Amino acid sequence: MSTIALEPAPLRTESLSDRTARVAEVAAAHLVRTDREAAFPVEALDEMRRTGLLGLLVPTEYGGLGGTVADMVATSIELGRVDMSVAVIFAMHCQQVEAVVRHGSEPLRRRLLPEIADGRRYLASVTTEAGKGGHLLTSESALSDADGELLLDRFAPIVTGGEHADGFLVTMLAPGATSPNQVSLVYADREQLTTLERSGDWQPLGMRASHSVALKLRGQVPCAQVVGRQGDFRAIVTSVFGPMAHLGWSACWLGTAAGALSRVLRMLRSPANRGRTDLGSELLLTRLSRTRQRLETVHALLARTERTVAESADLSLPRVQLQLNALKITAAEECYRAVDELVDAVGMRHGYLKDSPTRLEHALRDLRSAALNYSNDRLHLADGKLALLDPEVRFA
Ligand SMILES: Cc1cc2nc3c(=O)[nH]c(=O)nc-3n(C[C@H](O)[C@H](O)[C@H](O)COP(=O)(O)OP(=O)(O)OC[C@H]3O[C@@H](n4cnc5c(N)ncnc54)[C@H](O)[C@@H]3O)c2cc1C
Repeated sequence: MSTIALEPAPLRTESLSDRTARVAEVAAAHLVRTDREAAFPVEALDEMRRTGLLGLLVPTEYGGLGGTVADMVATSIELGRVDMSVAVIFAMHCQQVEAVVRHGSEPLRRRLLPEIADGRRYLASVTTEAGKGGHLLTSESALSDADGELLLDRFAPIVTGGEHADGFLVTMLAPGATSPNQVSLVYADREQLTTLERSGDWQPLGMRASHSVALKLRGQVPCAQVVGRQGDFRAIVTSVFGPMAHLGWSACWLGTAAGALSRVLRMLRSPANRGRTDLGSELLLTRLSRTRQRLETVHALLARTERTVAESADLSLPRVQLQLNALKITAAEECYRAVDELVDAVGMRHGYLKDSPTRLEHALRDLRSAALNYSNDRLHLADGKLALLDPEVRFA
């Protein structure tokens, strides 16, 4: 993890790893309750605000930490080791910030980025829609013109941290769109929404602390708050949303599985466990080996894809898209399987019961969401089409 040179204020001289450790410590103190109550980790978010982590990707000229995508990946892994919900909240916020940094209009950047850097704005993502499910590149709700501004009126079935967010990036059809693909990304401050109503309860299997509730949003925003070109959300998906989501999520999942393996290894080697587990058991050793192998595979692919994203001039190339999708699918499958295998390795007491210090039960429930959080099935269909476009089978 890199250390970022910062302004003279004491907080600003802290290294990124110290800031991350502080957030992780707060997350650890609250994770049993936030999981049990399916409650948003307000304390961990407050620590992200205080430490400046919310402004990790905000350039220094706007008051942020000026961190890189590699910093985001490293931080997401560390937070994921402790609590996958907190890690995903952080990674998805970073994805939104990067979209504003790279595609926002200058008036929007000048106003919004310093507020994010100050920890005053945590951003949520609104792309999923009831009728179209996870499909990113279409929308069923249109923006409309209202007194020279844009009227935003949208139901969002799942918004991580939606009730606690200070701003929202929302996909909707461009005004006057003639096809469902003319999607725009528009930013709204919480204060610009006249309606922000939650509907229904949030009682999922895992990711309970992500508090990903259904929301009704309505409000009016200036046209300068369209991020990127009107109707051209595809350009943002290719350059920012896709890469940042797949790198960020994979990092969170890898962190969660690595944290689980680490806790299992510490439990197995602890004095309290002496004489209880046969550490020479070939079955146990093979299971530990396979778990580690899965994590090494994901780590290698994550590092490779991170480099591809940093070095590629054109992220829309089929071979680049195929690598990004392979990362997401592989990380979702392998991190889940790694923890599932650990359950078999240690058995009932430390594999299945909630109160074990290994916390495998919690990690497994959280990781079950990985294949759904942008469906692996959808990515396989896209990959099949992309594979047909690359008969030479060139790798990125
Ligand atoms: C923990 C968590 C947090 C989330 N946070 C947010 C958030 O903050 N903001 C947000 O907008 N969204 C969020 N999502 C939603 C997420 O990004 C996906 O859009 C959503 O999980 C997809 O829901 P779905 O499985 O019902 O829908 P679909 O993607 O529609 O898939 C449903 C099932 O149908 C099948 N299927 C349907 N259509 C196709 C197709 N064309 N090709 C192949 N298979 C298909 C697949 O098997 C899939 O499993 C979150 C999801 C999770 C799990």
